[in-house]
Amino acid sequence: MTLAPVHRNRQTKIIATLGPASSSREKIRALFDAGADVFRLNFSHGSHDDHRARLAAIREVEAEAGRPIAVIADLQGPKLRVGVFTKGAVDLQAGQAFRLDLDPAPGDGARVQLPHPEIFAALETGNELLCDDGKVRLRVTACGKDYADTVVVAGTRLSDRKGVNVPDAVLGLSPLTDKDRADLAAALDMGVDWVALSFVQRAEDVAEARGLIGNRAAIIAKLEKPAAVKNLLPILELADAVMVARGDLGVEMPPEDVPRTQKMILREARRAGKPVIVATQMLESMVAAPAPTRAEASDVATAVYDGADAIMLSAESASGQYPVEAVTIMDRIASHTQSDLGYHAALDAQHQPPKNTGADAITSAAKQVAETIGAVAIATYTTSGSTTLRAARERPQIPILCLTSRLETARRMTLSFGVHAVHNADVTSFSEMVGKAVAIAMRDGLVQPGQSIVVTAGVPFGTPGTTNVLRIAVAGE
Ligand code: PGA
Ligand code: MN
Repeated sequence: MTLAPVHRNRQTKIIATLGPASSSREKIRALFDAGADVFRLNFSHGSHDDHRARLAAIREVEAEAGRPIAVIADLQGPKLRVGVFTKGAVDLQAGQAFRLDLDPAPGDGARVQLPHPEIFAALETGNELLCDDGKVRLRVTACGKDYADTVVVAGTRLSDRKGVNVPDAVLGLSPLTDKDRADLAAALDMGVDWVALSFVQRAEDVAEARGLIGNRAAIIAKLEKPAAVKNLLPILELADAVMVARGDLGVEMPPEDVPRTQKMILREARRAGKPVIVATQMLESMVAAPAPTRAEASDVATAVYDGADAIMLSAESASGQYPVEAVTIMDRIASHTQSDLGYHAALDAQHQPPKNTGADAITSAAKQVAETIGAVAIATYTTSGSTTLRAARERPQIPILCLTSRLETARRMTLSFGVHAVHNADVTSFSEMVGKAVAIAMRDGLVQPGQSIVVTAGVPFGTPGTTNVLRIAVAGE
């Protein structure tokens, strides 16, 4: 096993979902050493005890490695399901009538329960219901407040408790079910860094979660419904990060629309300066095979060329046969793509102009200055992380050293493009700060004696959002 270097020279971060295939401290350490920067606990599966044990193991690995690690609690959200059938399943035929209602009695070939009054309230004639990841499609012919008559458009079989997607309608559902509220309380109590919200439909959903979470964790809005894509800009304003959740998004919209939607989300998230994650099926075949397909390698590289902050593994690392190999391959694809000359050209082509604030002016100047003099890192001092996020928004070619006196900030920042986060004690003067930035950059292998770094900071200290100083510092002098 090769141990992770203190500083990984890879700008796109890797998120590994933990599950039965990756629960021991040794396995989590192996995933970290192979390149995982952030771990995801998927609350759709497993008990609170399972997640608590995994989080404890992650914190041990973090202490051993001496590097901050972010942990995401991913809440299941309002996943909709049909009820049960007398015989466990029914056969269906295209063209036949099929009714959905609120009656809990087991279903048959003519009807089944759909225990969600919110769906009936929002449905309109002509809407489609997608069951079992879209394998069964039902078109609504008539509906009321407690039923929907449909015609089967496609599909031959529906069984107990299969999932239901309603892409056409905005449902009057809270993004947090009772289970989510219990899971959220447990996750915050465990001390996770990020909470991911599933099936977000509008900005108000993020606001509602924020009311419960406060500043105890940062919020990722998972974009997996057409309504969320439509409301992307207001969601981006309220969320701390977004995820292109292509699994459910690919069920709710035609596959041919997923790539351009992914690119659009990446562009808008980069414009907003919020971290963006590309997720699901990136190396899907590695659930059962030690090597990816060429198409999967290309999919990972596309997200890297588009400037994603992070790319994510789901089943590949949680329940697959090759979790460490999947992280290793993802690390190799991202690193090799990053060394292509076309990579920075692609990122620069979508460079977003700075906002007219002092902080953005200094931050974008830092990138210019670093490129002009060949500096090897940009150092940012931050309390909340906002200054570091603005630096990451510039997508510089060199690492962004994030120095912060808050451990929570250092952990959260590990999700962001190009950021090398370090938790250190507060500094009291500007010269102490520059000295410390250089010393830490040298210690962690970002800079060699004689090379320079660009340092940005806000003076006087302790006033958030006042980045107003830019300094060139040479290591070893
Ligand atoms: P999930 O979300 O893995 O929790 O379903 C991601 C997705 O839908 O892509
Ligand atoms: Mn999903």
